[in-house]
Amino acid sequence: MMKEITSTEPIGALTSMHPNFNFDNSYASTFEDFYVRCRATLASAPKLLQLNHALAEELGLDPAALDSEAGSAIFSGNAIPEGAEPLAQAYAGHQFGGYAPQLGDGRALLLGEVIDTRQRRRDIQLKGSGPTPFSRGGDGKAALGPVLREYLIGEGMHALGIPTTRALAAVITGDPVYREIPLPGAVLTRVAASHIRIGTFQFFAARGGVEKVRELAEYAIARHYPGLADAENPFLAFFQAVADAQASLVARWMNVGFIHGVMNTDNMAISGETLDYGPCAFMDTYAPGTVFSSIDRNGRYAYGNQPAILVWNLTRLAETLVPLVDPVKDRSVELLTGVLEQVSSVYEKYWLAGMRSKIGLTTEDPNDLDLVNDLHWVMKDGKADFTLFFRRLSQAVRGDDDAVHNLLEQSGAFDVWARRWRKRLEQEARDAETTAQAMDRVNPIYIPRNHKVEEALSAAVQYQDMGPFSKLLAVLSHPFDEADGNEAYAEPVPNPSYKTFCGT
Ligand code: AMP
Ligand code: MG
Repeated sequence: MMKEITSTEPIGALTSMHPNFNFDNSYASTFEDFYVRCRATLASAPKLLQLNHALAEELGLDPAALDSEAGSAIFSGNAIPEGAEPLAQAYAGHQFGGYAPQLGDGRALLLGEVIDTRQRRRDIQLKGSGPTPFSRGGDGKAALGPVLREYLIGEGMHALGIPTTRALAAVITGDPVYREIPLPGAVLTRVAASHIRIGTFQFFAARGGVEKVRELAEYAIARHYPGLADAENPFLAFFQAVADAQASLVARWMNVGFIHGVMNTDNMAISGETLDYGPCAFMDTYAPGTVFSSIDRNGRYAYGNQPAILVWNLTRLAETLVPLVDPVKDRSVELLTGVLEQVSSVYEKYWLAGMRSKIGLTTEDPNDLDLVNDLHWVMKDGKADFTLFFRRLSQAVRGDDDAVHNLLEQSGAFDVWARRWRKRLEQEARDAETTAQAMDRVNPIYIPRNHKVEEALSAAVQYQDMGPFSKLLAVLSHPFDEADGNEAYAEPVPNPSYKTFCGT
């Protein structure tokens, strides 16, 4: 299949090294026609800016050995560690609703899969390592700012307990990349449960037909949902499992005010991890229509649209599975539709569970959905900062409503709501302080505030100063622990004209 694509023959890496990556490359050995073996473009002066020591250890690597020139060489793509088989994966996808039959890793290389210290199989991918046959005219590179942005926000999401790809390293290449202006080039090393996307299924369906989709689905089941292999209808069960994982994920996003920004089908991982931090950002003032991405002109991926887009994307996945679920097409469509029809309520179940804990509830009451929905009206009308509002609710539990009042333009509606809430809290068999502490463990005080992210990135890009980045990363690593001296990291500085860009 891939033979149709003519390679641009990127410049090869030079040396081979032995940093003990425990590679076991199942994708490379399973899907030969659906990727292209590739090399990274040589970086002229690679320098390691950031290494995730804890993650390196999880992967069975020696952080001290990698925090070195050898690490710079590996994480820039200049050196290929023993056992790596660099390749660019093919995928398709619906971008802003329109189908693109061939996307693929245009600026990324899968080095291989590592079995980590907990026996989990994880992809190690370089992002920004130069052009591949899938670059479609792009330069295959990444600028430092977006690389550090993915690092910060991804690690912030991880600390919030939200499934996500991780950042292992950020390297500056020493070469400029040309966007509107020349910018320092960089490479991010990303770790993922896998990089199989809804768009991977779309590509396999379009280019390989039923048999290839079957192979991919069997592979994805074995890798991500091994318990389903013996299910009565494994492919239907697989669809249900992916739907469940993605519904849970989007609910988690909604619970913290995260806007992915580019929920194209090629950016939705089958594993249920958050994938591809491009124009993403956290909402400040609660407003369901919030959009930050400069290219999302119609607000397709606005905060409040994410649950609907979840279903739209899963419908695209379902289409690829029709030939597998049942030999009778109508029956297959009926079965898949049955699952799809449940996604919104599955999503709502996860979202409501998250919201219950955010307002201090551990039990379920049929009126909770109304209570939570009405709270959103209070926030909306009062123009409350989403993150601080939930965080300060624990103060109200402790008897101090001022902290909440101060976040609202008008607080009367809150007082009315709070009477219902307090009544509902009385059904809980917990004392106020226990409830307040539990709330503080689920409502972050620190999220990647847009102004703080920009400050960290511009210090790094303009002044080669990684100080603000390191400090912000440290703060985001403990999002629930309010600490003296970190007030500025909690402070919202809403900027209605704030724009984000795709350009990793
Ligand atoms: P994204 O919007 O980051 O999900 O990327 C969508 C597609 O565009 C993927 O196939 C990327 O590999 C490709 N792409 C994005 N930026 C570049 C670039 N600078 N060079 C080559 N391909 C790119
Ligand atoms: Mg992408």
